[in-house]
Amino acid sequence: MLIEKNERIRNKGRETRNKRKMQTAKSFEIKLDKSKISKERMDNLERLFLEGKWFTNYIISKGITDSVPYKDYKVNKVNVKVKDKFEERELRLLSSQMKQYIIKRLQNNVKALHELGKKGKKVGKIKYIKSLHSIFLMQYGNTYTLDVKKRTLHIQGLGDFKVIGLEQIPNACDITTANLIERNGDYFLHVTVYLPKEEKVHNRKVIGIDLGVKDQITFSNGIKVKYNVEMPKRVRKLYKVFSRSQYNKETKEHSKRGQKVLVKIKKEFAHENNQKKDINNKIAHYVAANYEFVAYQNDQIKEWQRLFGRRIYQTSIGGFRDTLKRKVSTPLEVGRFTKTTGICMYCGYSLHLNLSDRMFKCPSCGHMQDRDVSAAKAVEGLSLRNVGETLVDDNASTSNMLEYLKSIPHVKASISNEARSPKQMDVAHIEAPSVRAG
Ligand SMILES: [Zn+2]
Repeated sequence: MLIEKNERIRNKGRETRNKRKMQTAKSFEIKLDKSKISKERMDNLERLFLEGKWFTNYIISKGITDSVPYKDYKVNKVNVKVKDKFEERELRLLSSQMKQYIIKRLQNNVKALHELGKKGKKVGKIKYIKSLHSIFLMQYGNTYTLDVKKRTLHIQGLGDFKVIGLEQIPNACDITTANLIERNGDYFLHVTVYLPKEEKVHNRKVIGIDLGVKDQITFSNGIKVKYNVEMPKRVRKLYKVFSRSQYNKETKEHSKRGQKVLVKIKKEFAHENNQKKDINNKIAHYVAANYEFVAYQNDQIKEWQRLFGRRIYQTSIGGFRDTLKRKVSTPLEVGRFTKTTGICMYCGYSLHLNLSDRMFKCPSCGHMQDRDVSAAKAVEGLSLRNVGETLVDDNASTSNMLEYLKSIPHVKASISNEARSPKQMDVAHIEAPSVRAG
């Protein structure tokens, strides 16, 4: 029987390992919403961390290397040093799995110290702890569960807790372990999930991107994307209430009401940030799934933030660029000091454009194009020159892309058709566009 069981566990382990090869791990932070948790539950949570501390110190006092996990995790009473005496304390909330992990972690620490010692480093002994700040929840579905609809976290033996931020966790993913963390009296859950790896495309198609303030994203195929997730009016109102709430300089704390309002504000921000992240992810996903080579400029988005403040904040285009970098097969970056606006992609003529000039008109050959589309094309051309590639400039699927982008909530997508070809088309120029450095 036991052999069969071991075999089953081994097979399951192998299965999981093979599955994980096709997946990537991500971790999400979820916050326990104190304002919606009863005093009794909060006390229990505090007690859990206290019991964790007692148990940790108990194992240290016994000798970590002498601990026999499967015996020690059954311990439910430990002696705790109170001043000069020892008193017995009951472990009523700390589950065996939590204890197992505490032992494992301590044993790993001993091992790590031992390794350091072997390398000749001076190492001390593991000391008693004054407080414990994390409890490992080993098994999803057993030690803990999450309910997206009810917005709750269930911890074995402790009950349900209202949480903020569950919407970050994607629908189709494997939730695995979590760490329950205490930070300045607040509690967080760091959840690890596994998602399918995104398949990289290999189609030698290229697209250039220009990031901006007015139109956030412009593609070299002429598609422009605008998106604004505005801070709701109620958040501004909440801000007013918060700034008027009393602040105690000694305790460095706002009044109870102020603190409550702050929690609400933070919640609103988390929601808004998730909306922005979601938009960024959707756009970046489309681009990465359809274009192998994606060219963009390493603009100084931080600098823009200083200049344009809220408008940048509302879109988080920096976040978009970072998501893009991560997702595309071959990101092509053009240096931030390279001139990309005001360059004619036909004849290479370079002129200075003011921020208010929305159209690029080439004084030399007469080519006319939307300023940002022209920049996106320049980014594409320059980056390709940098890597010495000749690739397919794909305009065929523009309508699909437009439809997709339009389907994303809060996103406005349009196509700029305002291009006018040069007066006298010089075929040689068109086949081999050259760009003079600006
Ligand atoms: Zn020109």
